[in-house]
Amino acid sequence: MARELPRLNVILVKPSKYDDDGYVIHHVRGVLPSNTLNALNGLFRDAAQKMGITIEMHLIDETVQLVVPERVMRKWAIPGVPTLVGLVGVQTNQFPRAVDLARRFKKLGAMVIIGGFHVSGSLALLGLTPELQQLREEGISLFAGEIEGRTEELLTDALHGKLKSIYWLGELPDLSKEWAAPLVDDTVARRFMLPYAGTMDTSRGCVFKCSFCTIIHVQGNSMRYRSPELIEKHVREHYPRIKHYFFTDDNMSRNPRWREIFERLIQMREQEGIRITFMMQVDVPSYRIPDFVDLAARAGCSQVFIGLESLNPDNLKAASKGQNKLNFFEEMIQAWHRYGIAVHTSYIIGFPFDTVESVRRDITTLMEVVQPDQASFFMLTPLPGSVDHLEMTKRGEWMSPDFNEYDSFHAAQNHPNMTREEWFNVYREAWRRFYSVENLIKVLNRATPESYWGIFKNAVWYAYATHCEEAHPMITSFWRLKGRTERRPTFPIESRLAYAWRRTKDTVVLSWRVVQLILMFEKIWRATWLTKRTAEWRESVAQVKEAQVQRQQRAIARAVAFFTYLHLRMGQSREAWQDAWHLLKRGKLWHPRLYLSSIYGTMLGVSELMTRGWLFLMNLVLET
Ligand code: SF4
Repeated sequence: MARELPRLNVILVKPSKYDDDGYVIHHVRGVLPSNTLNALNGLFRDAAQKMGITIEMHLIDETVQLVVPERVMRKWAIPGVPTLVGLVGVQTNQFPRAVDLARRFKKLGAMVIIGGFHVSGSLALLGLTPELQQLREEGISLFAGEIEGRTEELLTDALHGKLKSIYWLGELPDLSKEWAAPLVDDTVARRFMLPYAGTMDTSRGCVFKCSFCTIIHVQGNSMRYRSPELIEKHVREHYPRIKHYFFTDDNMSRNPRWREIFERLIQMREQEGIRITFMMQVDVPSYRIPDFVDLAARAGCSQVFIGLESLNPDNLKAASKGQNKLNFFEEMIQAWHRYGIAVHTSYIIGFPFDTVESVRRDITTLMEVVQPDQASFFMLTPLPGSVDHLEMTKRGEWMSPDFNEYDSFHAAQNHPNMTREEWFNVYREAWRRFYSVENLIKVLNRATPESYWGIFKNAVWYAYATHCEEAHPMITSFWRLKGRTERRPTFPIESRLAYAWRRTKDTVVLSWRVVQLILMFEKIWRATWLTKRTAEWRESVAQVKEAQVQRQQRAIARAVAFFTYLHLRMGQSREAWQDAWHLLKRGKLWHPRLYLSSIYGTMLGVSELMTRGWLFLMNLVLET
């Protein structure tokens, strides 16, 4: 009899966050599936296979599927099989929601572990903070750092029902070895607009030292990278199912093996017809790396995301972002545009030298002079794991006690030159101005025919978030939902009637805004694509007409030249007739020349008449 393999039930949840009314932010449809879930899906299944265990994997992305732990456990818990619930990729602003879910899953008998940037960043710079210590005491495990190389240890512990209270190695895994590539889960993917957009990191870490950044303290201040052979293998294996990738590296331009990766993609594209496209994150000076932009374009790059952060040199200095030189910005955008690659810039509002007026001025410069195709605005946030947060903690400065507000669109700290309300208002103003009809018309009029629809689609998404949902696009998908009973514990559960009234108001307002958005983009489309295409069409019709006229004129000129020549020759007809007449007068009736000259003279005379008629007609045509 076949031996039954040990079984483990794994539920991985990517939590969302609460809105200001305490409702979980989730939508009918998302845009891009979570890279964390796909990556862990691949790693867990691979580890289970190597360990010879049966693993039941269930993935939930809460941004498109509200998590009610009681329902999840009723549906997926298997009697006699241990259940591991992983709250994964948890950022600081998602931490309160993750903790609430963790406690409920724990109560229902699951083993629970929380990982992601909040846990990793806090442990890296601050050690065991009170909120993390509290979780440990409640029996909820913590996972810091990266899981590659430690998946088997975690699954073995879960199988034995003995999770450690903390998984924290400190050292980061070597990425150059064979790795289990991210695996798209169809049940999650179908809830997204771009279900099969692949995500993959070719490297991790960053070589710079921006003070607001957590990457360098979680993923390292030097580059670790995957082997180009493995990246090629992964792309080949998933083509044609996955044709577009988002390379999630924090800074792909500093991956020491970017050239080899691009050359492999170019080879596949140009010689084998494997034509993937991708977007990537790079730094401002990357356009100066020899061949970088050129090879990226040939390899299929369609968009780059670049951290511009500020147009004020004092702010850049204060943020230790010295690599961003103001005189690079315009040149950089032009360099990417020359190759038809769209540029998406991030811009942080709230650095120490910002004021309401200076922010307004800088946003005008951003739109009028720098001219990116897309922009994302953020409020400076002291994220645990960043130097900013560490320094503020040491100085004892005020920071919001509510991690739910560390989402870069709440003022989670005080600002020296603006009240928190002024700061928020000028931040919202930046979004509204960039995604206004006037600016989007300018942006789309600058786009090439190849990049137009990509920029247009992203503009619809970002304008929808800005004008309809009034939220940050990075947490906004399409059509917001609110689960009545899944409210933050600090808020009361509304009665059905109050909730119905709230949702009715929400729906009416959102529907009205969507109608306005459709009209807005109809106007933009007419002023850009339609106007341009009509002008091009008119121009091409005019060119065709012009070519036709030129062809006719050339034919006429040729005919005129021919008949003019003929006409000159026809002058001889008179001489032929005269010769025949002389012969006749002398009575030489049987002289052969008499007949030949008569025939020849007749022919020449007729053609002369025709020529004159033709010339007359031609003159008439040309003059009219
Ligand atoms: S360049 Fe980007 S990833 Fe690198 S340290 Fe600065 S903010 Fe972080």
